[in-house]
Amino acid sequence: MKRPLVFIHGGATRFKEEFHNDIIKAVERAAKIGFCTLERGGSGLDAAEAAIRSLEATTLFTAGKGAEPNLIGDVELDSMIMDGNRLESGAVMAVKGITHPISLARYVLERTPVMQIAGDSASWLYRQMIDEGYRDEEFSGDTKGPSISEGCDTVGCIVVDKLGRITSASSTSGWRGKLPGRVGDSAIIGAGVYANEVAGASCTGKGEQILRIVMGRMAVYYVEEGFSVVDSCNKIMRVLREKTTGQAGLIMADKNGNVGLGFDTPHMPIAIANNGKVIYSSMAPHDFVEAQPI
Ligand code: ASP
Repeated sequence: MKRPLVFIHGGATRFKEEFHNDIIKAVERAAKIGFCTLERGGSGLDAAEAAIRSLEATTLFTAGKGAEPNLIGDVELDSMIMDGNRLESGAVMAVKGITHPISLARYVLERTPVMQIAGDSASWLYRQMIDEGYRDEEFSGDTKGPSISEGCDTVGCIVVDKLGRITSASSTSGWRGKLPGRVGDSAIIGAGVYANEVAGASCTGKGEQILRIVMGRMAVYYVEEGFSVVDSCNKIMRVLREKTTGQAGLIMADKNGNVGLGFDTPHMPIAIANNGKVIYSSMAPHDFVEAQPI
């Protein structure tokens, strides 16, 4: 596939059937928004942030407005964005009272000397971000509707720009009823999200299993070792099956615009935009590797 491209996922889980249509529309829309951002001259970071914000703004995923509460009823969000060529990233963990943690993660990357901020300090940083006018304030009340999936449905994306530079990102509330203060894989560099100058990965599913095998970094390492992204996804999914209880997935892209994925859950909605349009989308892309639709 030609670059630039935007590759979106909406979580490795099982979604109730009546919502499949809305979910596909949302991931397709996010891919288009990301791609239009690139076409208008935006960077990979711009495209990834815009795409993730559009997913956080729906209530379809356990991210942003759709976030699930923890054991004591608080919503705590994790998010991360990584610029592969610069090996720069920003992450926020267990942040409360905000709708778009992806923008705060980007703020950490661009405006602070650190890479990870957690808990109340992240909420404090959010207020500083708004005061500086970096992003606008948005309503952050509880807008969650009834759950539409079993478990959790994090959102993530990979952007490859026309020069082959890779950005990876993720945003989630984690699982309903999780322990307060629990941080999953999504905001942990190398676990849920990784990118370098060779390839990028965005993982989803049971965070504790993803963390055990440092899934994102390992998958990218396989590409560095000469495996294709498709083979790298298969290889890391094999490790996931053999070493953990699984229930996870990932999307990958390399600097040349090759894409791959793997998942062991009933669904992992994805959409890919390339050449100005969505060229592939599916709730359960089992056919993806064999069919090579792109
Ligand atoms: N990986 C996320 C977490 O464990 C959940 C998900 O991907 O749906 O927090």
